[in-house]
Amino acid sequence: MNKKLNVYLAGPRGFCAGVDRAIEMVKSALKKYGKPVYVRHEIVHNKYVVDSLKSEGAIFVEDLNEIDDKSRPVIFSAHGVPKSVPEEASKLNLLFFDATCPLVSKIHKEVEQFDKKKLPVILIGHRNHPEVIGTMGQTNNEIYLVEKVSDVKKLPINKNDKISYVTQTTLSVDDTKDIVQEIKSHFKNVIEPKKNDICYATTNRQEAVKQIADQCDYFLVIGASNSSNSLRLVEVAKNYGAKKAILVEDVDSINLNIFDEIQNIGITASASSPEILVSKLLNNLKNSFDLKINEAHYQKEDTYFKVPQILKV
Ligand code: SF4
Repeated sequence: MNKKLNVYLAGPRGFCAGVDRAIEMVKSALKKYGKPVYVRHEIVHNKYVVDSLKSEGAIFVEDLNEIDDKSRPVIFSAHGVPKSVPEEASKLNLLFFDATCPLVSKIHKEVEQFDKKKLPVILIGHRNHPEVIGTMGQTNNEIYLVEKVSDVKKLPINKNDKISYVTQTTLSVDDTKDIVQEIKSHFKNVIEPKKNDICYATTNRQEAVKQIADQCDYFLVIGASNSSNSLRLVEVAKNYGAKKAILVEDVDSINLNIFDEIQNIGITASASSPEILVSKLLNNLKNSFDLKINEAHYQKEDTYFKVPQILKV
C-alpha cells in the first residue's frame, strides 16, 4: 500500500484573465493570418505555453529587428512595452497587435496622467522585469524605480515636492505595503494611484497560499524562474508558515522521494501556469502516494478580458 500524503490545493491558482487573453490573441492571429505569427518576448512567462504556441506556428523574438519576414503579424506580450516599441513597429510598417494586459495598460495610463501634471513618478517594481521596462517607457520625464524600502530615502527628489507612485502588478502585497508606507512618510505630498495597482490575480493567489501555508511541510509553486508572480508565491508560502517552499519549473523533474518523510504538501500554480501542469503533478504523485486532496477556495474569480475584435476570424 502506498504512503498517505495530504495535498492542500490553493484556490484560485493558475491562469489569470490577462494571460488567457494574451494566449488567445496569439491563437486568433494564427487562425486569421496563418503561420508564422511573431511574438515579441515570451507572451507569458511559462515554457509550456511558449513551447505549445511555437508548435502551432508562433516565432518568439526579443527585438523587432529579429523579424525576418516583416509582412507577418507581430504581437506584443502581456507584460506591456515601452512607447518606443509600437513607434518602431509603425516605422517598420509591421502589422502589430498589443496583448498588454488591460490591468498593465491601466498603469501606463496613470503614468501618462501623472506625466501631464508634471509629477515625478516613483515606480515600485523589480529592475529589468519586462513590465517595469514597459511602464518606465511610458514617459520621457521623471520616473524612478524603487525596489525596496531603503531605496526611498535615496531618491534624488526633494521631500517637499509633490510626487506620485505606481507599482508593478505582480509584487508581494505585504512588501509593497511597507514601501508605500515609507514613501508616504518620507514625502510630504504624495498623489496615490486611484486603485491598488497590484492586480486581483496576484492578490488572490497570494492570499490563497497564505490560508494553507502553515499546514504544509512542503509547498510546491508551479511557475517559471523569470515570472515575478511565481517567485512571490514561493516567498509568501515561506513567510506564512510552510516549512519549505520551492518553485517547480518542470513537474516531471521532481524527485518524489523527498515526500517520503512528510505528511502534508501544498500546491499552487502561478498566474502564467496552466491547470494541465497541476493535473500532471497530481498524476505523478498518485503513482507513488495515496493522496487525500483538500481544495481550498479563497475567492471566486470571474474577470474576463475579450480578445480584440480585429483578431476575430
Ligand atoms: S497577473 Fe494580473 S496584470 Fe499580469 S496578466 Fe494577469 S491579470 Fe494581468
